[in-house]
Amino acid sequence: MAKISPFSLPGQFYRGNLHTHSTLSDGANEPDVVVDAYRHAGYDFVMLSEHFMAQFDWPVADTRPLRSKDFTTLIGVELHAPSTSVCELWHIVAAGLPLDFAPCGDNETGPELARRAADAGAFIGIAHPSWSQLTIEDGHTIDVAHAVEIYNHGCEVETARGDGFYLLDQMLNGGKRLTGFATDDAHFKDHDRDAFGGWVQVKSENLEPEALLAALKAGHYYASQGPQIHAISIEDNIMSVECSPVDSICVVGGTSRSVVASGRSMASARLDLNMLHKGLYVPEPSPWLRVTVMDALGKCAWSNPIWLDECPA
Ligand SMILES: [Zn+2]
Ligand SMILES: [Zn+2]
Repeated sequence: MAKISPFSLPGQFYRGNLHTHSTLSDGANEPDVVVDAYRHAGYDFVMLSEHFMAQFDWPVADTRPLRSKDFTTLIGVELHAPSTSVCELWHIVAAGLPLDFAPCGDNETGPELARRAADAGAFIGIAHPSWSQLTIEDGHTIDVAHAVEIYNHGCEVETARGDGFYLLDQMLNGGKRLTGFATDDAHFKDHDRDAFGGWVQVKSENLEPEALLAALKAGHYYASQGPQIHAISIEDNIMSVECSPVDSICVVGGTSRSVVASGRSMASARLDLNMLHKGLYVPEPSPWLRVTVMDALGKCAWSNPIWLDECPA
């Protein structure tokens, strides 16, 4: 039986938000207020991802004094530079940067900036692709990206453009081994309407920032709006999923084919992957699959892509 990472790995899941703003850029609340809000909401870590721009004096939030034994912070920013295919600034989440990360150069492009941040050790995530109207070609230019922001809660509640799966899935089909993270992008301008709606659950042996970053880069996490995924395994082409009670458990890949189990408050399902190759039109098998579970309120959790050639035998 192939037990799928990160569920099969040692350690525990730590809940975190990688994308939120304070008064250091255009958020409504002071940094300590934002961090406290996440601590009290049951998170294990948060990153203030301020807009890294001259107009805010290139802020890299030093949240280290706000760490405690059971709550930590990552250091990073939201990077901006020209220019996407609709002639707008890039928005790129960079988690794990030095506090003295140098300001953008005059002619530095988004892909170059992302590369410099990756060289400095950061986890690189392409932010809110739908809100930014990114094309697949845009996505491929960020050649150091680890991940696509597949759910941005602030974009969802403001513009109903929170979903980034079109970009992730088509980049996977182009051969890029990326992962998908969910965030809030909270600014707290309308109370907490844009907060606590999307997060990552990172599997790590401890809550040290370095361990969390390594796990993020390795894809040892899943994304959620509420439900929890406990285990995924594959044996004899049957995928078994264990999760918190949900009404739908499905597996999708790089084609229209899917296998779905639905019911009321299901905490597990067995999905016959042979069904991905049956139907009116049978496409080539997808080399990757992902699991989505959805609860009665429509809240989802999403596994990262499972590459079948990487599954343990
Ligand atoms: Zn942004
Ligand atoms: Zn943002």
